[in-house]
Amino acid sequence: MAEIFNHDWQRTKLCGRFDESDAGHEVRANGWVRARRDLGGIIFIEVWDWTGPIQIVFNPEAGEIHNLAATLRNEYCIAVKGRMRIRPEGTENPELKTGNIEIVASDFLILSKAKHPPFMIGDETDSVDENLRLKYRYLDMRREKMQKNLRTRAKINAFTRNYLNEREFVELETPMLTKATPEGARDYLVPSRVNQGCFYALPQSPQLFKQILMISGFDKYYQIARCFRDEDLRADRQPEFTQVDIEMSYIVEDDIMNLIEGYMKGLFKEIRGVDIPTPFIRMPYWEAMDRYGSDKPDLRVKLELCDLADAFRNSGFEPFRKILEAGGVVRGLRLPGGAAMSRKEIMDLEAHAIKLGTSGLANFLYKDGGLKGPLIKFLKPEEVDKVRELGVMQPDDALFIVANESRQKACEILGTLRLELGRARSDLFDNSPDNWKFLWVTEFPLFEWSAEEKRWEAMHHPFTSPALDNDTPFDEDPEHALARAYDCVLNGNEVGGGSIRIHDPDVQARLFKCLGITPEDAKRRFGFFLDALSYGTPPHGGLALGVDRLVMLLCDGNSIRDVMAFPKTQKAQCLMSGAPDEVEQARLDELAIQVVKDEE
Ligand code: ASP
Repeated sequence: MAEIFNHDWQRTKLCGRFDESDAGHEVRANGWVRARRDLGGIIFIEVWDWTGPIQIVFNPEAGEIHNLAATLRNEYCIAVKGRMRIRPEGTENPELKTGNIEIVASDFLILSKAKHPPFMIGDETDSVDENLRLKYRYLDMRREKMQKNLRTRAKINAFTRNYLNEREFVELETPMLTKATPEGARDYLVPSRVNQGCFYALPQSPQLFKQILMISGFDKYYQIARCFRDEDLRADRQPEFTQVDIEMSYIVEDDIMNLIEGYMKGLFKEIRGVDIPTPFIRMPYWEAMDRYGSDKPDLRVKLELCDLADAFRNSGFEPFRKILEAGGVVRGLRLPGGAAMSRKEIMDLEAHAIKLGTSGLANFLYKDGGLKGPLIKFLKPEEVDKVRELGVMQPDDALFIVANESRQKACEILGTLRLELGRARSDLFDNSPDNWKFLWVTEFPLFEWSAEEKRWEAMHHPFTSPALDNDTPFDEDPEHALARAYDCVLNGNEVGGGSIRIHDPDVQARLFKCLGITPEDAKRRFGFFLDALSYGTPPHGGLALGVDRLVMLLCDGNSIRDVMAFPKTQKAQCLMSGAPDEVEQARLDELAIQVVKDEE
């Protein structure tokens, strides 16, 4: 009768945890076969689990066992019995934790055979086409690196729960089947069978529910929450992602910031063994834009933008003068040593800046004892001096200039160049491991203008409180109104964001009005919430941390897909399960849904 897997076959230790103290003992190992070698009739294999490999030796004297071992292939799942021994001198492998021991097999059991895998399960698998890795994700996750990443993710989640539980936060779950939420992306919809023609929305965040929990008296809430946003997946986004979602009552900005700084300090110590300096720098939004051209500045890049308005305000260079007269800006980016760039490199950089949305990229090069460049002939000598002074230019530097009606646009374009030029040079970019540069970006604009919709939109979300100390009420001057919002930024990544919320129903109504949401509309979309708000709402606020990005940074990863067990592709597909998929007509009939396919 074929042997079955039972206690007699169960591993005595995980493969990578055997050590010299096991030598001379009968042991059992369970795992996957890798790296079979036959040397002069002796068969060696490695058996692996997540802790690493242990070498198994099958001697020809073992007879039938030895013959059977010759049939083992990569990724067969087996159980082995044998005696552990110190490896004979000269056969040790110092690169392995278990490199000086091996099990001499006395018996083994093939638990499952494996088909020939579509790629080798080794860490070199990163070079394998990612779609293949996603299709065979179960094999991809057997790799040491994926094991490490996902186990680190679990550790981070455990740390999060401990940290917040210790501080009397209550972990509460909010619904997945819910109503449209206010984060401003497209919702994933789920049709209701019982209420035909009606749809649930999957939550973009638990925002309204967590605020309602404050109204209910859970004055410190958190959740490791799955969120869904149906966006075109540019860059490194996923349709479903995870946030540590936090909300607290009777607090101000400092309370959230202190909480998160303590959290990050503990987390980075636990996971990376480093001490993060706290408190983090705090920087108003416009300072971040003006100096770094980004609301999530990477402070590891040692370049800053400059304001050149004073050099051009009265200059003979009409295009810049006019932009300044119209309320626009002239901003620059100094590149140390940039005067050595070739004409072609400068032209390519300008073409790139134009693609980013500006009409041109002016330049000055500091060489042969003075500034050179196409604009020199339009400027008086003292204006050229001013450019040099405002640009803080040194010999051999280049200064690249963007003039634009929009301060935001000019800053963003130079901010992109700053990152690209800076990150490419080791003297301008300190990319050493554990160089963690945290900051808080604060004082965000309350609104941003949507040219498409021709109306103001909430920059964070419409439940964010306007700043209190504005002289002019926010609804009288929406353009300049500031929000009590804050983002936690790490090395150029927004790792978290939140705000103090509106807790006064009148303020909430005025804010909706600014956004062009009519009272009827507000009632239809958020009526339940507005009702709740009018029953004694404590002042409250919170934030959400992006778990995927945070884990990625802590794992030194390049993509959030590498820290998610089952991520989707840029087309929002799961290559392993084949989701999304068509469904049977009968299911659609139940839901009273008719699918009209685009002929194309
Ligand atoms: N709900 C917000 C978001 O998902 C976070 C917050 O304001 O707490 O971005």
